Amino acid sequence: STMDIDTDYFDSYFDLNVHELMLKDKPRTLSYKNAIELNSIDFKDKIVLDVGSGTGILSMFAAKAGAKRVYAVEGSLMAGYCELLVRENHLHNIITVLSKRMENVDSEDIPEGKVDIIISEWMGFYLFHESMLNSVIEARDRWLKPNGIMFPSRAELYLQPVNMEPLYQSKVNFWNDVYGFDFSILKGPALERIHGVPLTDYIDKKQLVTEDEGQVTGKLIREFNFSTVTCEELEDIVIDHIKYSFPLNERTKGLKAIQGFCIWFICYFEGSQKTVTLSTAPGDPETHWKQTTIPLPGDIQLQGGEEIICRLQMKQDEDNSRRYVLTLDFPDEDEEEGTTNQDIQVHSI
Ligand code: SAH
Repeated sequence: STMDIDTDYFDSYFDLNVHELMLKDKPRTLSYKNAIELNSIDFKDKIVLDVGSGTGILSMFAAKAGAKRVYAVEGSLMAGYCELLVRENHLHNIITVLSKRMENVDSEDIPEGKVDIIISEWMGFYLFHESMLNSVIEARDRWLKPNGIMFPSRAELYLQPVNMEPLYQSKVNFWNDVYGFDFSILKGPALERIHGVPLTDYIDKKQLVTEDEGQVTGKLIREFNFSTVTCEELEDIVIDHIKYSFPLNERTKGLKAIQGFCIWFICYFEGSQKTVTLSTAPGDPETHWKQTTIPLPGDIQLQGGEEIICRLQMKQDEDNSRRYVLTLDFPDEDEEEGTTNQDIQVHSI
């Protein structure tokens, strides 16, 4: 039930290892720190709401930047430590720790009635995993002043075909020769384990199969504005007609194989003074989000001169809305609208 799922969810955050991992993730933590410090004018004498404060680190950045009051809301038992850490750092005159779920915060908890800024680190794998954004949206609609600021304010989602040769080498071809014995009958089962399950791991930038060498970043497939996005929009995210063209030219000749599609996101903190970026793209400094790769059931061998059109669906799992089912389809353009073909369609340009 939803209750058990949420109990498990909040239990999972009462774990020092999880907070250690997040705090040690420098691109993550420093992007918040920089965004708050470089836009301290947006925090000075303001009321700040930190949704899911964990250890309280973001609240402390906000307090240091001059906030008048910071509400640090934490639904797991970490709230107890958060309270102690705030005291130890002499910030209890500014930071009020609310040891409860955001959804249960009421008007007695926030006597000002509204806040100027919401800060939150709610992002999960492929941006939406854990669905914590839903709690942030509800908080925004209930507590944020009109024209109040959201940190982060915006995100971009990217999708790019990838070559997974390194993974195949280490997980499949490995069985060819095990201390001189032929274990290759295990290559089938090994492949099955890779297929069908999204992979959370770092993708080397060199593994990205790009349309031409000029295209260094991946394909931007959707933008999300956190001042306006709604919970309904997050239930079933469909991105249609994502097109990749691989022209026949010197550079793409004899090109690589595509074994999967890699998803990543970039978040932006658009303050009144400066925009700070938090990227989880391949090639950028590694974050604990890594990248998420959807493996294909079979390889696409590129010769150059092809066009691939796909559709990505990210749908909240009906049994557990904190998870998403990720589906990659290759709609057959010749068929009627709405019908999709699981087979990979490669169109010639
Ligand atoms: N802000 C901290 C922790 C981020 S992890 C940091 O940046 O280091 C997300 C935290 O949000 C977890 O501690 C989790 O327990 C908390 N959280 C998630 N959903 C929540 C909700 N609805 N209400 C209160 N806390 C929530």
